[in-house]
Amino acid sequence: METIVETKDKAIAELIKKNNLLIAGPCSAESEEQLIQTALELKALGKVDILRAGVWKPRTNPGGFEGAGVKGLSWLLKAKQLTGLPTAVEVATSKHVEDAISFDTDVLWIGARTTVNPFSIQNIADALKGTNQTVLIKNPVNPDIKLWIGAIERLQKAGIENIGLIHRGFSSYGSSEYRNAPLWQIPIEMKRLFPNLPMICDPSHICGKRDTLLEIAQKSIDLAYSGLIIESHCDPSVALTDKDQQVTPAQLDTLIDTLVFKTTTTGKKDFVEELNHLRAQIDCFDDELLTLIANRMNVARKIGEIKIQNDVTVLQSSRWNEILERMIKKADHLNLGQAFVTSYMEAVHIESIRIQDSLNIQKS
Ligand code: PEP
Ligand code: MN
Repeated sequence: METIVETKDKAIAELIKKNNLLIAGPCSAESEEQLIQTALELKALGKVDILRAGVWKPRTNPGGFEGAGVKGLSWLLKAKQLTGLPTAVEVATSKHVEDAISFDTDVLWIGARTTVNPFSIQNIADALKGTNQTVLIKNPVNPDIKLWIGAIERLQKAGIENIGLIHRGFSSYGSSEYRNAPLWQIPIEMKRLFPNLPMICDPSHICGKRDTLLEIAQKSIDLAYSGLIIESHCDPSVALTDKDQQVTPAQLDTLIDTLVFKTTTTGKKDFVEELNHLRAQIDCFDDELLTLIANRMNVARKIGEIKIQNDVTVLQSSRWNEILERMIKKADHLNLGQAFVTSYMEAVHIESIRIQDSLNIQKS
């Protein structure tokens, strides 16, 4: 017979796979009052699935609030008993894992500063062996997809089956519009590599401020993410960590109601017919484009041959400049982005050079 713990673990594993999952709660558990107050307000919204709160805070500089520690876990447990909401906490060491499990924490998440370190990940994976714990892995702070993949593999090797991913953006030098640049191509690639792992967006840590949360959350929905994790505090103005990005439960309510939730597909007949018709056109254009590019490369090959015969260099900087400028001017008229046309032309040019260079090699 299945034990109560096994039944609970299965239910949590199912929950994190749910579409439009919403995890919310303060950046940090600061006091019992703050956590319980926030949890009750969040529960009352009727749309939050899991309560989050950090109790060990990885702070960049020493001297700040580094979390309530084990005491915070007991507040989380109390919040769960009062609201019925499952709880989630960040773990960075094997001791954190043991403590979190001993306080019946339902979901563990691995923070961005931990995903970068294979030693730490292995230490966490070893502590998780033999459990059915659900673990969410945040992307590493730096845009290194291999570290994110490595963390998944280490946990899987330790027998952890219930894994989800959190996209919280990537840090970079200097100021930018975001606290952590989203670099959407990385989570998109992770979704391609791990189609069965839920991808949850953390707009709070991407934005670093409240006013752009909606835009990032909506974008993640449009990219078919399965859920959101958003920091919410009963009074963000006095928050001890991440003050500028936290929203009140009431603000969270408005934010969620403003979002337009989407499905990855629909069986609606008109939609399917129109989509198939338009996709057929896309396929024709792709075929034509590839044929045209092949024809262009054949001409580049002929040019390469006469360059060899006349001892002329493959690269002709002024000609390349002329082509690029002409195409960028055209981009504007055709309503195409300049950055796109530039990278497309660069790719074409590099391929032409490769073809012409290969003729040189054949000759020698
Ligand atoms: C957090 O979720 O509060 C946190 C510390 O996140 P990250 O690891 O994304 O910085
Ligand atoms: Mn935070």
